[in-house]
Amino acid sequence: MTKELRCGDLMPGCPAVLEGRDETEVMTKAAEHARTQHNIQEVTPDLASKVRAAIHDKP
Ligand SMILES: [Zn+2]
Repeated sequence: MTKELRCGDLMPGCPAVLEGRDETEVMTKAAEHARTQHNIQEVTPDLASKVRAAIHDKP
């Protein structure tokens, strides 16, 4: 099942949608996206749990 994360759910106004084969892949892409697009250098455990909660199956 493909997983998807709409960055806008966490970062209002961001149009990025990140996809992966599983949650781990989406998390990896999200960390990269956060670093390059939102200047978030470190994904804290608190942020990681929010990201994980926002990941859902792609319809
Ligand atoms: Zn974003």
